[in-house]
Amino acid sequence: MNSFTFHNPTELIFGKGQLSQLENKIDQLGSKILLVYGGGSIKKSGLYDKLQTIFQKKNCEIVELAGVEPNPRLSTVHKGIEFIREHKLNWILAVGGGSVIDASKAMAVGALYDGDVWDFYERKAVAKDALPLGTILTLSATGSEMNRGSVVTNWETKQKHGAGTTFPTFSILDPENTFTVPKNQTVYGISDTLSHTFEQYFSHTPEIPLQTGLAETIMKTVIGNAKKALDNPEDYDARANLMLSSTLALNGLLAMGVETDWATHSIEHAVSAVYDIPHGGGLAIIFPNWMKYVYKEDVSRFKRFAIEVWDVSPEGKSDEEIALAGIEAVRNFFNEIGAPSRLADYNIGDDQLKVMAKKALPFGPIGNFKKLSEEDVYEILKMSL
Ligand code: NAP
Ligand code: FE
Repeated sequence: MNSFTFHNPTELIFGKGQLSQLENKIDQLGSKILLVYGGGSIKKSGLYDKLQTIFQKKNCEIVELAGVEPNPRLSTVHKGIEFIREHKLNWILAVGGGSVIDASKAMAVGALYDGDVWDFYERKAVAKDALPLGTILTLSATGSEMNRGSVVTNWETKQKHGAGTTFPTFSILDPENTFTVPKNQTVYGISDTLSHTFEQYFSHTPEIPLQTGLAETIMKTVIGNAKKALDNPEDYDARANLMLSSTLALNGLLAMGVETDWATHSIEHAVSAVYDIPHGGGLAIIFPNWMKYVYKEDVSRFKRFAIEVWDVSPEGKSDEEIALAGIEAVRNFFNEIGAPSRLADYNIGDDQLKVMAKKALPFGPIGNFKKLSEEDVYEILKMSL
């Protein structure tokens, strides 16, 4: 196991009716708030009205930034920073999925930085100070509610980059707020959560049975609850299990002492930078192909994955056959829940493959399970057509 420092200051407030805790947070953090949300799902679900009741009761001064795009854009982040400065706001409340939260993190660090916030995403500067940020999560997927990652797209330059920004001060996770998530977004969230565990599970770090077991339990929990939530979107326990799994999959827990990979996320970011497709959809397409491309680096890890996570019977099979059956099981699962399986599902052909392969490695080779060059990424993208 590698040495590590773990620090995660986000206060997690989980469960039915926990929105009531927002009142204490307003008392602690101040009443001048930037309210950030997306394209309107919080108005349809009734969450927006519940917030208004609380804001009125606490005499809040609210400035709204609505319309944060899925795959949030730098231009929107700039707008939020302007609002914060102009109205001298105390903190940010992000209400939505990963896109709203990631954009809000960028605003939180950008508002206290003299240069352009994009510097953090281009690795020209490291974020130090941040405005407090609270989140109310409405979609189980990214784990952004309890990590310091933020992914922003610069649409002018067609770059989608992640940066370490700031941890949310608190995050309110009420599974009921995910009851209205439509089928396709539920599927993308499941794919993203599983992908986050894959990125950390496929590691060459020796002697990590604890992290291996934690990752396998998260994967099995997601697989076991996926169909329940899709068949009955208001199944509280299924939604709650998916929600906590997505948070724990990327809050630093699985990365403790482990060399992680993250190549597939870089490849997906390159695809969505050019085609603006849903993150979880892109991952469902690319991940099984990444697996096929790299499994020979450690067949025994893939054999274990097949048997423990996907119940592949080892009877009469070679190690390699077991490993490949596990990868097949991943693809079958994604197919069963209705995830896309080919770039063609998003009308993506082969004309931009070279461009995307180049974009996937903005800062040098990617991945650790197998270090990938531009040519490797090109091959994986070709397999994904
Ligand atoms: P999202 O882009 O935040 O939201 C996708 C869609 O779901 C939006 O149209 C949104 O509608 C809708 N939605 C959200 N909650 C809903 C609800 N309760 N009911 C109905 N519709 C709802 O999706 P996401 O997967 O959470 O975030 C994706 C982004 O996060 C990508 O940019 C990805 O690269 C990034 N990401 C970040 C991390 C990280 O650690 N920070 C990790 C992985 C990925 P509205 O806009 O109307 O609300
Ligand atoms: Fe992700």
